[in-house]
Amino acid sequence: MFLPQSDSLDDKQSDVLAAALVNILVVKEEHRIVVKKLDKETLTIGRSSADDILLSSQGVSRCHATIYFSKGATWIIDGDLKGRVSTNGLFVNGARVAVHKLNPCDVIGFHKGVYAFFLSQVDCSIVDDSPEDLIRKLAFFVSGKNTEGTSLDQLILLNQSTQATLVNSEKVPLLDSLTRLQNRESFFARVKKSLEFRQKISPNHNFAVLFIDVDRFKMINDSLGHLIGDEFLIRLARRLSRCMRIGDMVARLGGDEFAILLDNLKSPDEAIEIAKRLQKSIAKPLKIEPHELYPSVSVGIALSSLDYQTVEEIIRDADTAMYHAKNTGRARFVVFDIEMHKKATNLLRLDSDLRRAVDQKQLELYYQPIVSLAQKKLVGFEALLRWNHPDNGLISPEVFIPMAEETNLIYQIGQWVLNEACQQLSRWQANPAIRMPLSVNVNISSKQLTEVHLVDRLVVTVKKYDLTPDMLNIEVTESNLMENTIQSLKLLNQLKQAGFKLGIDDFGTGYSSLSYLNKFSVNSLKVDRSFISQIDKPDNNTSISITKSIITLAHSLGVKVVAEGIESSYHLAWLLQQKCDYGQGFLFSKPIPAAEATRFAERGLDWPWKY
Ligand code: C2E
Ligand code: MG
Ligand code: MG
Repeated sequence: MFLPQSDSLDDKQSDVLAAALVNILVVKEEHRIVVKKLDKETLTIGRSSADDILLSSQGVSRCHATIYFSKGATWIIDGDLKGRVSTNGLFVNGARVAVHKLNPCDVIGFHKGVYAFFLSQVDCSIVDDSPEDLIRKLAFFVSGKNTEGTSLDQLILLNQSTQATLVNSEKVPLLDSLTRLQNRESFFARVKKSLEFRQKISPNHNFAVLFIDVDRFKMINDSLGHLIGDEFLIRLARRLSRCMRIGDMVARLGGDEFAILLDNLKSPDEAIEIAKRLQKSIAKPLKIEPHELYPSVSVGIALSSLDYQTVEEIIRDADTAMYHAKNTGRARFVVFDIEMHKKATNLLRLDSDLRRAVDQKQLELYYQPIVSLAQKKLVGFEALLRWNHPDNGLISPEVFIPMAEETNLIYQIGQWVLNEACQQLSRWQANPAIRMPLSVNVNISSKQLTEVHLVDRLVVTVKKYDLTPDMLNIEVTESNLMENTIQSLKLLNQLKQAGFKLGIDDFGTGYSSLSYLNKFSVNSLKVDRSFISQIDKPDNNTSISITKSIITLAHSLGVKVVAEGIESSYHLAWLLQQKCDYGQGFLFSKPIPAAEATRFAERGLDWPWKY
């Protein structure tokens, strides 16, 4: 006979269990109802089990069944632990069983009219409830409804019909085939029960949903292969299960996403404690021959105290919190709060608005002058995108560009920017009042760098407006460049061959390897604003040293330097002294609409700055 191995739970963990939660059997024996706590590792049920659960009905054997606690679960075994079975058999939810892992609301049949309900992780107070109260709560557990006046016998029918609907609707299996954890459907069903229990029966019933995403799983899968990836997920699933208390549910929602329901919490702090324990246990090195892997997970926690109406809402918020955990550096947990909710809904709304923004002409290009510091003249403009939102006013590109990248709208927006900038430049070229040759800088985001036809599209657009590629400076930020160096290298070389000028934006912030600079063969480096803004602070020499070294490095490679964020005459004087080639900043002009930029160019740059 199969006997699950006893698993001595971590002592601390079992203490927590003993204090907060109990497993019970509600036993009905002909006309008697007894509530029995299952607080021992082994309990016998039968006619001579005076110490444990005594049943005196005819048809019940001396040692009819055994309750056995192991592997974090409660099992019931027909007969005794030595393998001797009972005379009349043991039934769970109507089916004969030899060994069965008990689930909440399972109905155990010993003999006609003698049966028990198993409930896991219930509040100790339920043990003292009057039979009527108890049945009312049980009816809720079983059917999800507040069924007044149900008898214990009717509960069995209710339970059977719930099980039957489950079986019927579950043509879809309840377990995830890879990890053998519960799957998304059974997880949602279980959270729904906890939510409804809180809404309809016990407002103090606290629970939490943890949304868990494995950090850098894609990298493991891509670099070590799917077999290792699968094994990795199976082993993580086991680790997650081991951290759970009885009655909690761990599920795999799909891919590298898991979720946990922590039911019956004493306080929100308990959820945080469990999340900490979980991350610690996950983070132990994992050997999958011949590799040693260092797993970590990001966890989002949503607490029932926010009074959710639906399961989808609580899971969505746990997911949002997880996303924040990922964004703040992985291997962390974040508890969802209302501020996050506001931000998330706002972003969601902006996202759908952005789809309309292109068609409804809400996007506009502003232009910021770029100046040759040595020659003291205007050389061109950087095109900077603006979104005139009908309700929210001007929205910063730093808010909506990442959103557009996520939803792939960036391709459409990027093309619009390119067209608009080229058209504007050709107007300036044709304007007799503008005497100096001008170029335009266009920013390209990281997703656009992976676009196969980017160079072709650029060439076609430039031609369409009668321009030559060297009039366009393509700006790519240093961090975007470093995200995908091989791909970027290929693309930048193609751009270069087609005759476009290349600039690295926000230089100094992206940890690029200097050796790459040679390979990328760029025309310019733009020193990030964060350094320039610090150069006039007497006690901050790092920014000065970094800016100086960037200028020296660039010049030794034959690359021009642009300083971004020049706001004062002091900045300007210092940069001139360092032989910085070009500059851009509020000192010269803020980014301005096209018409104003035209006037700026027609006027030419007068140089009033004294230093
Ligand atoms: P960026 O390319 O580094 O652009 C420079 C940013 O610094 C601009 O912010 C500009 O307004 C600001 N700036 C310039 N001089 C000063 C100054 O003296 N002081 C201060 N405080 N700020 C200054 P903006 O326009 O908000 O753009 C933010 C970022 O959004 C840009 O950074 C760029 O990465 C991105 N972006 C803007 N337009 C586009 C676009 O058409 N496509 C893509 N992919 N990204 C864009
Ligand atoms: Mg830029
Ligand atoms: Mg920049």
